[in-house]
Amino acid sequence: MTEMNHEPAPPERVLVIAAHPDDIEFVVAGTVAKWVRAGTEVRYVLATSGDAGTHRLDVSREELARIREAEQRASARVVGVKEVVFLGYPDGQVEPSIALRRDLVREIRRFKPDTAICFDPTRLFVSNSYINHPDHRAVGQAAVDALSPTAAMPLSFAEQIEEGLEPHRVRQILVASAPAPDTWVDITETIDLKIEALRQHASQFDGRRDYVSVVRNWAVENGAAVGLQYAESYRRIYRPQPD
Ligand SMILES: [Zn+2]
Repeated sequence: MTEMNHEPAPPERVLVIAAHPDDIEFVVAGTVAKWVRAGTEVRYVLATSGDAGTHRLDVSREELARIREAEQRASARVVGVKEVVFLGYPDGQVEPSIALRRDLVREIRRFKPDTAICFDPTRLFVSNSYINHPDHRAVGQAAVDALSPTAAMPLSFAEQIEEGLEPHRVRQILVASAPAPDTWVDITETIDLKIEALRQHASQFDGRRDYVSVVRNWAVENGAAVGLQYAESYRRIYRPQPD
């Protein structure tokens, strides 16, 4: 392992915040699988149930939501994650609203993670052929705003404190899909589990593109930056002291 890696030690509790079923599997499930095997407790929170994620005309949003929630739960099981929370925002129409921030703060205060994984809200033009989905950006923004500083501030969404939750400060934030990552997690041992988790999202794979190769190649490219066979990369925010 090179000096550049700065691979974080497996945390105790990790909350992963994403927009859609399959976002986690494409980008961070290798890290999740590795840490769960090391004893980390991981929970997923998804803003939507992926209910607009199709080009088919013969399926309703309600039906697709049921299918995709089941796929997400199956893929969580592959990597050993037992709990998935769906917030039920409409796929394709998510805004970084105060309502979403409130819901995410509640999940942070309920689960009390020491580490959160979320997606970079500033990522817009990912490549010459892909513009980042607006939901990814909106949920990333709401997640960052919930994590810092809101969840730790007792007068923010104080009704949650009155209900018995406590303010909670997340010490470490790992931002996925960051254009300039500074932290890499070696997923050589879990790349196959990551791909098995990805395969659970059968509704998303119509054969037009070989997503298994895409994901494997991303891991190779990430790893090449630091001399690893397969890696996932992050921008790491570490804040042991109060804001
Ligand atoms: Zn997505």
